[in-house]
Amino acid sequence: MSVIQQRDMSALREGYSPAVRRFEIASIVIYTAVMVWLGWKLWPGVMQRPWLALTAFMLGYIAADFVSGFVHWAADTWGTPEWPVIGKALIRPFREHHVDQKEITRHDFIETNGNNCFISIGPGVMAALLTQGPALTFNFFAGAFTFSLILWVLMTNQFHKWSHMDEPPPVIDFLQRWHLILPRDHHQIHHTAPYVSHYSITVGWLNEPLLKMRFYPMMERLVSAITGLVPREDDIGKKAALLLIDDKAPESVAGEPAKSK
Ligand SMILES: [Zn+2]
Ligand SMILES: [Zn+2]
Repeated sequence: MSVIQQRDMSALREGYSPAVRRFEIASIVIYTAVMVWLGWKLWPGVMQRPWLALTAFMLGYIAADFVSGFVHWAADTWGTPEWPVIGKALIRPFREHHVDQKEITRHDFIETNGNNCFISIGPGVMAALLTQGPALTFNFFAGAFTFSLILWVLMTNQFHKWSHMDEPPPVIDFLQRWHLILPRDHHQIHHTAPYVSHYSITVGWLNEPLLKMRFYPMMERLVSAITGLVPREDDIGKKAALLLIDDKAPESVAGEPAKSK
């Protein structure tokens, strides 16, 4: 196990080249410019319709919690780090985060947030182009919602990082205790066997409702029915993966060292 761990971790660090870093810096700069542009276009609407703006802002936070969970679930459950592009960009970081939870706390601001800035640029530009002043209520709402969503998508990696710190800054500790951002103990449920719930990593408000709805097991059955793939097969091996499928109680495999997290 330790051999695999080290190979994976060194491969991860090798993947973080100066070119990747320049790409991340450029993404952060462009993202910031797009957010200023979108914010400037939204501002008259915010003044005229503050409650609508606040509603869009709150819904954007909840939507970011869902998006973070859905992307995280997809990366944890399907595919392999060897897949081109998406394997390196998305699947590998999540798999390796399970092997070394603390690695994320050693990432600086640029490495933590560059990727999420990049994926947010497209939606941000679209929203800025479609926002045409406060007259069009739906356009304004959609623009404000998108502003909020991509703001919190950016913050997601930061909140996730803080949830792995033993001693986060006092103000962060306060926000975690009040569950206004992802709390540490709440996120540790995801890092505990059988590792098949609590995927949302922005604030985690959706984790319990999605668990009760059996949302991800339903999605897994759907994807399996369509593709024939076994969820988590690449990650934990076919035997353990089959044990976790469907309505098997998570406790039945909780004791197995199925996944190296
Ligand atoms: Zn995970
Ligand atoms: Zn984590």
